[in-house]
Amino acid sequence: MENILDIKNLRKEFGGFTLDNISFALPRGYIMGFIGPNGSGKTTTLKLIMNLMRADAGTIEVFGQDHIRFEREIKQRIGFVYDEPVYYENLSIRRMTGLISPFYAKWDQSLYEDYLRRFELNADQKIKTLSKGMRTKYALALALSHGAELLIMDEPTAGLDPVFRRELLDILLDVMQREENSILFSTHITSDLDRVADYITFIDRGKIVLSQDKDSLYEQYVLVKGGPGDLTDALRRELIGVTVSAHGFEGLASHPVQGEGLLLDKPSLEDIMFFHTRGDRHGA
Ligand code: ADP
Ligand code: MG
Repeated sequence: MENILDIKNLRKEFGGFTLDNISFALPRGYIMGFIGPNGSGKTTTLKLIMNLMRADAGTIEVFGQDHIRFEREIKQRIGFVYDEPVYYENLSIRRMTGLISPFYAKWDQSLYEDYLRRFELNADQKIKTLSKGMRTKYALALALSHGAELLIMDEPTAGLDPVFRRELLDILLDVMQREENSILFSTHITSDLDRVADYITFIDRGKIVLSQDKDSLYEQYVLVKGGPGDLTDALRRELIGVTVSAHGFEGLASHPVQGEGLLLDKPSLEDIMFFHTRGDRHGA
């Protein structure tokens, strides 16, 4: 399978934080959810891909090419939706787009105008008057109108209502109708991904916890529940994380576990993230 994005041993050190030895790959034609709690290193990783920041070590290939040597060519083929305001606040949508579109060789003005209509954006409106949802839609309209094969979005659903989130996911599925397209989508709201993601990469405290296809993830992990007396020391050692209450316990294992009276269930992505990051590790 051809990788549209291939990250190897990426490292970036800040004062109190290290993005450490990050490696993962996204095959062409798929959607990858990039999940992790706030502050885990998602934005930093995406900025490194976009060469908005220099890495201390490691390599990044996009479309099989080094992301720095071929930065100009690569950026023609990427649509990036930022998590922070990057437009001139005092300009209208029309004027802002007029500054951005000449940069793209494959800019499609009529497709762009279709997206504005579909997203109910008024080209005469000033950027500073756009709500968070409207900004995301505007960024998406720009990203989708220059023939991008790889869409990278940093928390596009954060702070947005469920109606917009549902709408966005439908747009993404629509984008994926063109089978050569791929999407890397960071979020800390994992329920967004249950419907759309093919692959999940999970980062915590600057380290990759897992990166694999979603179906194998659901097959591999088990949610284990039981009464107060069922949590033996041996069982605790098998659990990645566990929460205990007066009524019993709930924990996550990365392999099948056996025991009298235990209830085994399929975890959600949220369960997997929660027990890796928050649940008491091994009950410690
Ligand atoms: P996420 O997007 O997953 O919430 P970030 O990548 O934004 O996480 O941040 C990861 C960590 O790196 C945080 O602790 C943040 O404070 C730190 N960080 C991010 N950018 C910088 C920077 N330019 N200088 C110093 N620290 C930074
Ligand atoms: Mg972020």
